[in-house]
Amino acid sequence: MAVQALADAASANTSLTDAAIQPIAGGTTLLDLMKLDVMRPGVLVDINPLSSAWSTVSLDGGNLKLGALARMSDVAANPDIQRSYPVIADALKLAASPQLRNMATLGGNVLQRSRCTYFRDVSYDHCNKRNPGSGCAALDGFNRAHAVLGTSEQCIATYPGDFAQALIALDATVEITGKSGARTVAFAELHKVPGSSPQIETTLMPGELISAFSIQGRWPRSTYLKVRDRQSYEFALSSAAIALDVQDGTVRDARIALGGVATVPWRAREAEAQLKGQKLDDALASKIAEAAFAGATARKHNAFKIALGKRVVSRALHQAATMEI
Ligand code: FAD
Ligand code: SF4
Repeated sequence: MAVQALADAASANTSLTDAAIQPIAGGTTLLDLMKLDVMRPGVLVDINPLSSAWSTVSLDGGNLKLGALARMSDVAANPDIQRSYPVIADALKLAASPQLRNMATLGGNVLQRSRCTYFRDVSYDHCNKRNPGSGCAALDGFNRAHAVLGTSEQCIATYPGDFAQALIALDATVEITGKSGARTVAFAELHKVPGSSPQIETTLMPGELISAFSIQGRWPRSTYLKVRDRQSYEFALSSAAIALDVQDGTVRDARIALGGVATVPWRAREAEAQLKGQKLDDALASKIAEAAFAGATARKHNAFKIALGKRVVSRALHQAATMEI
């Protein structure tokens, strides 16, 4: 229905580009960006009428399915999620404020756009993401909140969300529906690192909607640690989503994802490989943290994120390894 409404809006408004037709879910970030004049959609298509089908949370055997229109607060409070996927419950609980979480959806959360000041303030001319080809004011501007991983000379904006780190750590897949039918992609393939076109942030095609996220297997030994400037509500300066499978003290499987430090949800696969088959201790946790930031590049104001991020990884690993399940 909403997919059809998007298609109808496109054919009724042939003067509009596809990007000018935007779905709206909770509206907690899209409306902000419209008020700031950063996004100027010609048509909004309300996808909330799909809620009854697209907001369910089901745990069937070991397979979790999360509807894209499920509200963040509902999923964070779900006892099955808290028990079998604490990293998801933690990531959602530590994101935004209670009021926002009551309104905001999972699909809207993963598709939220940059919090880069130069992107959100239209008085700055140079922002490749908002104004393609104009340059990047953050490269030589105030870049304390910007990314140290996955950056390019085109854009160094940090991916702002929290939930996405839990999804990428757990090898989630994304169910997508559009004019030409449904398809499933790995969550790791949804976001694009900023290349020559940083304004194109995902691999979604115009008119496509996210309907659900799926995860195979349970991860009771998992956690999300987030460090931010203000404890009440704030975006991450550095965060880590960790999921471990530990048998008799040996790590059989490990997942490490980083937030607040990279341009996209970031999986630290090299670090994971060094942890598998080992017994975690302080020395190994430090080594893993080093590996997670091996490719990091700092700018003038954000070098502290590399030191902070390593401590976050190390602490989150201990937290996951010692949690009672
Ligand atoms: P909307 O605003 O409705 O949509 C967002 C975007 O996604 C739009 O472009 C829309 O077209 C698109 N969209 C929505 N649903 C779909 C779909 N199913 N398929 C395809 N496209 C879709 N987030 C964090 O993770 N951590 C934080 O710490 C945090 N702090 C915040 C603090 C403040 C003050 C505010 C205002 C926001 C904060 N947020 C934070 C962001 C917040 O979580 C998002 O605004 C929210 O999750 C977006 O969800 P929504 O349903 O309201 O999306
Ligand atoms: Fe724009 Fe990205 Fe540069 Fe920020 S970091 S000014 S979003 S191009």
